[in-house]
Amino acid sequence: MDKRRIELYKKRLVERREQLLDTVSKTEQDGRRADEEPTQDTADKASSSYTKEFLFKKSNDDRFILQLVQDALQRVKAGGYGFCVACGGEMQTKRLDAVPWARHCIECQEKQEMGLLE
Ligand SMILES: [Zn+2]
Repeated sequence: MDKRRIELYKKRLVERREQLLDTVSKTEQDGRRADEEPTQDTADKASSSYTKEFLFKKSNDDRFILQLVQDALQRVKAGGYGFCVACGGEMQTKRLDAVPWARHCIECQEKQEMGLLE
């Protein structure tokens, strides 16, 4: 893959990483605040635990993507970026345009979704 293209994806990855780091730390603060808020009645308690659950799930998703973004940046550094981690084939441009931190090419992603791939 041509270097300028990789630089472009790298820039998007770095931006995304900053964004996610920001979101993750904000979500953690919100979670702590939800813990500290004194709750009066059962309805309040229920909504507070719902909020916490929502924040927890959201922060898990963000963390997961953050991990993938960091892995992708690692591959940019190591020189393996743009290749599928499963089959070693070159990644489709449209795949990376949509998801710059993708680890699998379209074929392997499909296999993974069907449970045929680790
Ligand atoms: Zn593949």
